[in-house]
Amino acid sequence: MKHSGNYTKNSWGFHPSKSSREKQLPSVLVLGAGIAGVVAARILHDTGFDVTVLEARTRLGGRIWTIDDFGVPVDMGASWIHGTKGNPLTRWCESLGIHLKRFPVKMPYFFERGQGIGFFRIARKAHRGLTKFILQYFRLLLRCNSPTRSLRNTDYSISDIFDPLIHDLSLPALDRRMILWLRSLQEAINGAPASKVAMSELEIPNLFSLYTVPFTGFARLIEDAVSGLNVILNCEVEKVIWKREKVEVLTSKGSFKADAVIVTFPVGVLRSRRLIFEPPLPEEKIRAIESIPYGDNAVLDKVAIRYESPLCPANWEQFARLPELKNDSTLFTLWTNMQSLTGVPVYVGYFAGTDGAYIDCNYREVSILNEAMEKLKNMLNQDLPDVLSWKVTRWLSDPWTLGSYSFESTESTELDRIELSRPVAKKLYFAGEATHPEHYGTVHGALLSGQEAAVALHRHHCCDHFSSPAAPWMR
Ligand SMILES: Cc1cc2nc3c(=O)[nH]c(=O)nc-3n(C[C@H](O)[C@H](O)[C@H](O)COP(=O)(O)OP(=O)(O)OC[C@H]3O[C@@H](n4cnc5c(N)ncnc54)[C@H](O)[C@@H]3O)c2cc1C
Repeated sequence: MKHSGNYTKNSWGFHPSKSSREKQLPSVLVLGAGIAGVVAARILHDTGFDVTVLEARTRLGGRIWTIDDFGVPVDMGASWIHGTKGNPLTRWCESLGIHLKRFPVKMPYFFERGQGIGFFRIARKAHRGLTKFILQYFRLLLRCNSPTRSLRNTDYSISDIFDPLIHDLSLPALDRRMILWLRSLQEAINGAPASKVAMSELEIPNLFSLYTVPFTGFARLIEDAVSGLNVILNCEVEKVIWKREKVEVLTSKGSFKADAVIVTFPVGVLRSRRLIFEPPLPEEKIRAIESIPYGDNAVLDKVAIRYESPLCPANWEQFARLPELKNDSTLFTLWTNMQSLTGVPVYVGYFAGTDGAYIDCNYREVSILNEAMEKLKNMLNQDLPDVLSWKVTRWLSDPWTLGSYSFESTESTELDRIELSRPVAKKLYFAGEATHPEHYGTVHGALLSGQEAAVALHRHHCCDHFSSPAAPWMR
């Protein structure tokens, strides 16, 4: 199926160079139609390769999933552009005229017994705990004897900063609950258990508002990259036979052959028994796949609910609840108010970490919705308006993701990511967020990995140079 997308023009400007036009260029199968796959496919297609994309889902985008169920775009996977400066996504959005909004610009409001309290007011009340938190952070940092930016493979995890304070009975309960909330936020940001995430990954977002959101949702970029490409949806890859003259890929829709393939599957899928490489991948590659932290009994998931009327003032961009110290979970401790972006009362709640993983794997979607609404009701201390529609993600149970994204643990090194990205026998190329040594776990990391795989394949098979202008972010 040729994908025309809804847009007649795309923002790509590759012109195959004369030598590529004259040569019979090799055929390439791109496995997976997430951002890494469609970027790699677009670059190779536009430089003259014969490209086919095989995708298991009935939709494009993978962990980019913009839904339109509420009459406004809502991203159920990636939603933020992390760091706008120098980020290829910023340039790409600009080239398509997509408005980027800094969001959120304010810290969240906290609901305590139905009362909305500003972040700084509650932070002032919890100042003893927060001061201890900062001291604890620097104490561990000094022990690491290394500047923050280069902290890797530290002995310390994010739990090592938070857990002693959560259990510190000399602190008031409110302070300990605040620390527990910050810990749950770290699990959500990393999609991973705090006990595994390296201390270097600690992130206190919002303070400097470094994030932006594309108004149309991320799917518009996928549409742009994919227009005119040959994409086969609903086509699950089961086996890759790669040591013959042509690589053969066996799928739920039959067998495909090509000179090379680019594999862009998430680490969870590469590890699973559903996908077979014949012969098996080289040992170093298997070790890298096993070593890159991913899933690990934790997740980042979302529930989006459209209510008939607003739950709070439109300018409260995010609101939160402090988890109780006993008999409570760390589920739904943060909500994004989409009304402040779209004008429509849609609220996105996050369930993450090990508590999130449990309900992802064991609850039905409607039970997850009920759990979310129960927490909302208790937070606001009021009956909720009617629900008009809703959506729940379960990225950990999803057979084509099996987790949310890779993270950096106390034991991992960037060498595993470099190893995973290394081509095998000029036939197998690897891309995807987990292969990027610096920007793993992000859309732009996945994009850059797709670009790098395409360039490597181009060099090996064509010995040619791209002629400019090229991808929208390279101009
Ligand atoms: C809840 C959540 C929130 C996030 N928030 C952000 C954010 O705000 N900002 C940010 O930058 N990043 C965010 N991310 C991360 C970002 O979404 C990913 O890093 C990025 O989209 C990954 O792209 P990819 O192409 O590497 O992988 P994917 O998008 O997963 O693409 C891989 C594709 O392969 C397909 N596939 C898998 N197995 C098979 C098979 N056997 N046969 C055929 N096809 C198969 C999948 O269906 C998928 O389409 C978030 C992710 C999640 C889950």
